[in-house]
Amino acid sequence: MDLVEVLPNRLHMLRFPIGQAHLWQDGADLTLVDAGNVASAAEIEGAIRSLGLLPERLERIVLTHCHRDHVGAAGELAGRWGAQVLAHRLDAPVIRGERPVPEPVLLDWEVPLYAHGLTVPEAPPTRVDRELEDGDALGFGDGAYVVHAPGHTDGSIGVHLPHHGVLFAGDCIAAVGPPMLGVFNVDKARAVGSFRRLAGLAPRVACFGHGDPLTVDTAAALAGAAAGTAV
Ligand SMILES: [Zn+2]
Ligand SMILES: [Zn+2]
Repeated sequence: MDLVEVLPNRLHMLRFPIGQAHLWQDGADLTLVDAGNVASAAEIEGAIRSLGLLPERLERIVLTHCHRDHVGAAGELAGRWGAQVLAHRLDAPVIRGERPVPEPVLLDWEVPLYAHGLTVPEAPPTRVDRELEDGDALGFGDGAYVVHAPGHTDGSIGVHLPHHGVLFAGDCIAAVGPPMLGVFNVDKARAVGSFRRLAGLAPRVACFGHGDPLTVDTAAALAGAAAGTAV
């Protein structure tokens, strides 16, 4: 796992072989946005300690959606450190293991990529302590709130921190190269609508489930990519 500073003393990216999580700091109070794969709890804990922070202060884990490369270590970390697990109401039953992971409608070029993604070990059934809705306040980041961004999955969310100009886009947007619509969508047309909504927030910094964060000309790059994506 690579630990990448995005904003000093505020925001780090934790990059796994497939997928990534983000650590947000409000002083000593910590929030994880997504939680890597099921085998990554020790690495995440090590990353927190390497920054001089305490995993005991991990207050919440916000899951952008129900996929295995995002839910992975959430249950183990929450059980060990007492963090709350938060996820959208529509993905919560999948995360808890009460419903199967929804099958995406794959485009031809996505098929081999999807098979590669399935090499990530499945996430175990994971508790969700708080079910989220569009607009809900998340209690960190000076006003972070939920932006429902369905299409990748029904309960996919973005997390917007307007005070800091930061957006976590989950897998609605990918940036392996220039920003683009994320892959493996259950409903591509809805995903495009969500892409446009997230781009419309005009963040200064955008972080993704896959690919590098955007920190320069972010709003323009997202707006251009969203406008150029056909439904
Ligand atoms: Zn995903
Ligand atoms: Zn992902």
